[in-house]
Amino acid sequence: MKTIAIIPAAGSGSRFGSSLNKAFHLLQGIPVLLHVLKTFQMMAEIDEIIPVFKDNDLTMGRRLIEENGITKIKLIAKGGIERQDSILNALKLIGETNSILVIHDGARPMVTHRLIRESILQLTDCDGVIPAVRMIDTIKEVDDGFIIKTLNRDRLRAIQTPQTFFSTTLISAYNHVINIGLTFTDDASVIEHFGGRVKYIDGDYNNIKITSKEDLMYADFLMR
Ligand code: C5P
Repeated sequence: MKTIAIIPAAGSGSRFGSSLNKAFHLLQGIPVLLHVLKTFQMMAEIDEIIPVFKDNDLTMGRRLIEENGITKIKLIAKGGIERQDSILNALKLIGETNSILVIHDGARPMVTHRLIRESILQLTDCDGVIPAVRMIDTIKEVDDGFIIKTLNRDRLRAIQTPQTFFSTTLISAYNHVINIGLTFTDDASVIEHFGGRVKYIDGDYNNIKITSKEDLMYADFLMR
């Protein structure tokens, strides 16, 4: 069975206070996204890579792929308004034959081979595999300036990518949510909504998502 990595990179740079998409900011001299593409390009377990770009980033994205020999990219998907729309556009490029999909944020440059490999290996007797880390802080539910309740930290996890699924399962779950107009912030939620069983594996605290300049500085520190 083929294994395809989908790399959504069609977000905005709004929280950066910059018009440049955060995936194209430089980290250790190369774009954040290129760290991700190189990691997947190097892994024997990955057959194809489908990045998702906004129209405005297409020229820059294509140049990055060509100049850096990311030969596993044959198709590029178009970005959508929400992350979910971007993923749906990538799913439309995937044929009907069942494959394994590894979906990983273009804004998480610290992902390791170990985490990707483990996520693929664990896709047995379940509908999806996602990395989770324990909460460090106490988490409270709030409303209008006041605390509503304190959640049991032992039962909470912060969820990362890569998230791994069988394409037939994910495509049918996505078609359902689109038809009923629901929006989710990660791919596992789409499966969970239909009662699918999603397994979690140990994530990695270093596998941060770059959303601000401070994150970029922290990633730079971690890589050094
Ligand atoms: O917005 P968020 O931080 O959740 O984005 C996670 C990943 O999804 C990023 O790599 C971003 O580029 C991507 N994204 C996308 N299309 C959108 C929004 C986010 O591909 N409309």
